[in-house]
Amino acid sequence: MDNPHSSSPSATTQARHHRTMINAMTIDVEDYFHVSALSSVITKKDWGTTYPLRVEKSTQRILQLLDDYDTKATFFVLGWVADACPQLVKDIAQAGHEVASHGYAHQRANQQTQTVFRDDVAKSKALLESLTGQPVYGYRAPSFSIDESNPWAFETLAELGFLYSSSTYPVKHDLYGVPDWPRFKYRRPEGITEVPIPTLTQWGRNIPIGGGGYFRFYPYALSRYLIRTYLQRTGQPYSFYFHPWEIDPEQPTVSGISRKSQFRHYLNLSRMEQRLKRLLQDFNWHSMNHVYQLYGYDNDGKSNNTEIIQTATPSLGSIR
Ligand SMILES: [Zn+2]
Repeated sequence: MDNPHSSSPSATTQARHHRTMINAMTIDVEDYFHVSALSSVITKKDWGTTYPLRVEKSTQRILQLLDDYDTKATFFVLGWVADACPQLVKDIAQAGHEVASHGYAHQRANQQTQTVFRDDVAKSKALLESLTGQPVYGYRAPSFSIDESNPWAFETLAELGFLYSSSTYPVKHDLYGVPDWPRFKYRRPEGITEVPIPTLTQWGRNIPIGGGGYFRFYPYALSRYLIRTYLQRTGQPYSFYFHPWEIDPEQPTVSGISRKSQFRHYLNLSRMEQRLKRLLQDFNWHSMNHVYQLYGYDNDGKSNNTEIIQTATPSLGSIR
């Protein structure tokens, strides 16, 4: 049901995708105290004070893991983290990864005015560019917070010089989601490319399979099965996201949050690193720009692989 169009890839092509497709590995670089689900009990003045900074160490660990598997990724870095850990941002860029923006203060875009959103995002972009000496073209909204209420966010991102966003999750969820929006990379009327978080369609619903809490919740074998199914059915590259705090089971426990938030945040943190290793082993990964051909060259200045997107193109017919 993912391929209602006659131009869908053949079964043989689909089987090949599952083994050869290059998928996008992404990391939202924020600390445990930035997480939206904990914001009811943690205020900005607690960031890095009452709750000590841990993001630098976890992100360095991720850089090591990626290096072990000879993998490049996209790091959507929070501006606040860049201010607190400037050398970390330089290290990410130095290692050949794509540096993109996660905004500055981790406020949900759909709870900001357009002016506040613009200032927050512009500040993070300028900061990341000054640290890396490279243009920043990618953006991801905190908690996938671009939806029907704030499509003006795309207009602002285009005006600020962003070429792509990966800020929408076409699922039903209590905190985010636009179930009716496109599921695959598409061009917005505002002049920017959006790469939605991946979903699988089953029983008329979109199932979230993009990473984060769901990846920690599902047994690894189920996640692997869902990703393979996605690749076989859609012929599109898959993209995965996670956070540095998810590989840090030693982080301070925050009390006073709802049972649901508690469950979502702390579930299986100690299993995450092992699962990530298997994920890095079982699939091929690269940065967003490389995988989706978002601005034509990699951070090492080489042209990225055109073959991948040409192979995936037939399924673009299913974009609304
Ligand atoms: Zn975030």
